[in-house]
Amino acid sequence: MRAVVVQAAGRFAVCEVATPAPGRGQALVRVKASTVCGTDQKIFAGQFPGTKFPHIPGHEFAGEVVELGEGVDEVRPGDRVGIEVHVGCGRCARCLEGLYQLCLNYGRAEKGHAHIGFTVPGGLAEYAAIDVRALHPLPEQLTWDEGAFCDNVGVALYAVERGQLRAGERVAVIGAGAFGALAAQVARASGAARVVLVGTRAERLQRLAGLADSVVVASGETAVGQTREALGGDGADLVIEFAGTSEAARQAILLARRGGRVVLAGSTGPGRELSGVDLSTIVRGHLDIYGSLANPRGISRRGLELIARRAVDVRPLITHCFALDDFAEAWATFVERRDGAIRVMLHP
Ligand SMILES: [Zn+2]
Ligand SMILES: [Zn+2]
Repeated sequence: MRAVVVQAAGRFAVCEVATPAPGRGQALVRVKASTVCGTDQKIFAGQFPGTKFPHIPGHEFAGEVVELGEGVDEVRPGDRVGIEVHVGCGRCARCLEGLYQLCLNYGRAEKGHAHIGFTVPGGLAEYAAIDVRALHPLPEQLTWDEGAFCDNVGVALYAVERGQLRAGERVAVIGAGAFGALAAQVARASGAARVVLVGTRAERLQRLAGLADSVVVASGETAVGQTREALGGDGADLVIEFAGTSEAARQAILLARRGGRVVLAGSTGPGRELSGVDLSTIVRGHLDIYGSLANPRGISRRGLELIARRAVDVRPLITHCFALDDFAEAWATFVERRDGAIRVMLHP
């Protein structure tokens, strides 16, 4: 089969490799749509500690079940499925709580753990052998491209649920990428009275404007001031941060009303610190601040339902499409954010 193979940090190619055979508890998936995100940039650069080269990346994808491994009766050949990337070992303390993304046996395949596209081969390939626990049926009205957002929509839904959003509340979402756009829509679908999407890239926010009640294109203090104004006064009941920068985390805390909640869900890396926040903003402001990492077991299945009933529209996020053999071009388009690239879709 054809697959993107990262041979070493910073070096990749589309190669001919052996088609995997589904192992016990796995199904072979014919990948139909697969996309890339900022985390892939870390993987490609060799900055993701759990990834060993050579490696087939890809963790945002959907496809058709074509073959079953031993002991599998949860899916059948012909089923259309989306993939949720964190498969916990299923037996550690965190997995028993459903928190696959916090598995204490991370990276230990012999324990049953798999982080698809990170520690095990992913979906930038024609086929992938996937643990059935990661497979979620696509509602029939979803296209393959929409199904590729299975994991993404689960991540956004989880962040909103971490923030305990109640109907009628005012929400600010920081970060005008795919996750921010999805979180804004999930908040709306959950009954938020007003959702303001905040970012720094004008072109993106123009494209995403219809997905929130208003958008703010600004940075620093200006962003805080304009967002407060757009929310109608004294700050947000809930702030969701998906920008992954120290500055965005600082803004998120400053944007919450007294007694409000903040969810920091952007992808961070080691060494990134929170600074410039007066502790009294948190303590005297009586804030609840949550970290939110990826998604727990099975939440993406509910996320797909939101796409199916069009409460979440992922189509504005798909800015480009390529064949898998043109991956180099697709990658450059994404990395350089050519023509306002958000999600670049591959069709293996
Ligand atoms: Zn991703
Ligand atoms: Zn575990």
